[in-house]
Amino acid sequence: MKLNSMRFVAPLVAALSSLMAGSPPALASAPQIHDQAPGFFRLKVGDLEVTALYDAAAVFELPWLKGKKPTIDGVAKALNQDPHLLDAADQGFLVNTGRQLMLVDAGAGTWYGGPAFGHLAGSLRSAGYTPEQVDLVLITHLHSDHVGGLTTQDGKRVFPNAKVYVAKAESDFWLSPDIAAKAPTDAQPFFQSAQAIAAPYIKADKWHTFSGSETIVDRMQIVPLLGHTPGHTGYEFSSKGQTILFWGDTIHLQSVQLQHPELTVVFDIDPTAAAATRNQLLPKLAREDVVIAGPHMLFPSLGRLHKEGGGYNWTPVQFTDQWAAHAPSPHK
Ligand SMILES: [Zn+2]
Repeated sequence: MKLNSMRFVAPLVAALSSLMAGSPPALASAPQIHDQAPGFFRLKVGDLEVTALYDAAAVFELPWLKGKKPTIDGVAKALNQDPHLLDAADQGFLVNTGRQLMLVDAGAGTWYGGPAFGHLAGSLRSAGYTPEQVDLVLITHLHSDHVGGLTTQDGKRVFPNAKVYVAKAESDFWLSPDIAAKAPTDAQPFFQSAQAIAAPYIKADKWHTFSGSETIVDRMQIVPLLGHTPGHTGYEFSSKGQTILFWGDTIHLQSVQLQHPELTVVFDIDPTAAAATRNQLLPKLAREDVVIAGPHMLFPSLGRLHKEGGGYNWTPVQFTDQWAAHAPSPHK
C-alpha cells in the first residue's frame, strides 16, 4: 500500500515543481516588438522649440583619442571596467522660432558611418516636419557626419528650400582644391565629401558664408569655437532669459573628455586650439544655466554641465510633455 501511494505522489511533485520553475502559461506570451520610439526629443527654450533629431548611435574608437600616455593608458584601463565608455552618437537639431525653421547640423546621410547612420531625415518627419519646410541650415563644421544629410549621393539637395550658412574660414578650407591636393591621404575623403555635399547648394546660390559679426537670425549669436576645424562654430540662441548653445564637436566623447578636457581627437586640425577652446568654454557653461546641444553626446544630446572634481559632469535634460518653461511643482 505504501509503495503504491509513492507511485502517485512522484508525478504530482514533478508537475508542481515545473510550475514553480515558472513555465509560462501557454496563452500569455507576447512577441517582442523590436521597434523604437521615434528618434526625436522636444525641448522648449524660452519661446523657441528645439527638437533633437536622432541620426545614429555610435561607438568611438580608442586610437582616435590623443593626449599624454598615462592619461590614455588610464582610459584603456577604465575601458576594461566599463565596456560602454566609448559610446557616442550623432545628432542634428531643429530650432523653430515661430517664424523660421532652422536645422543645426544635418547628420551623416550616406556620406559617413554606413547604414547605421543617416536617420536624421526620418527623425525630422517623425517630429512632424518635412525637409521642404526647413528655411535655414546652420553648420558647425564641414565634416561629413555633420553635413552628409544635406545631399544625396546623386547630388540632390535634401533641403531644397534651405539656405545653408557656414563660417567662411570653414568653407574656404574644405572647398579649396589647393588645400585638398596637399592634404594627407587619410584626410582626402573629408575634402571630397565636403565638396560633393556643398556643390548643389553652391550651384543653386544657397551656400552662404559669414566672417563672424553678421546677424543671420535674431537672438542668435555666432560663437567661434576654433581648433577642431579652421572655422568650427557654435550657435547660441537666447529667448526669455534662457540660452541654448549648439556646440558642434567641442566634445566628442562625453564619458572621457569631460573629465579630461585636455584630451584631443585625431580629427582635430589644431588640437592645441581645440583644447584651449574647451578650457575657455566649459567653466563658463558650468557656471551659467546654459542648455548644451552636442551632436555626439548620447541621445537626446541635450543637457547641462556641472563642475565635478577636476572636470565636469553632464546632466541630460529631463523628459517632460509639459510645454511650460519648467515642469510644474508636484506640490501645486
Ligand atoms: Zn563630428
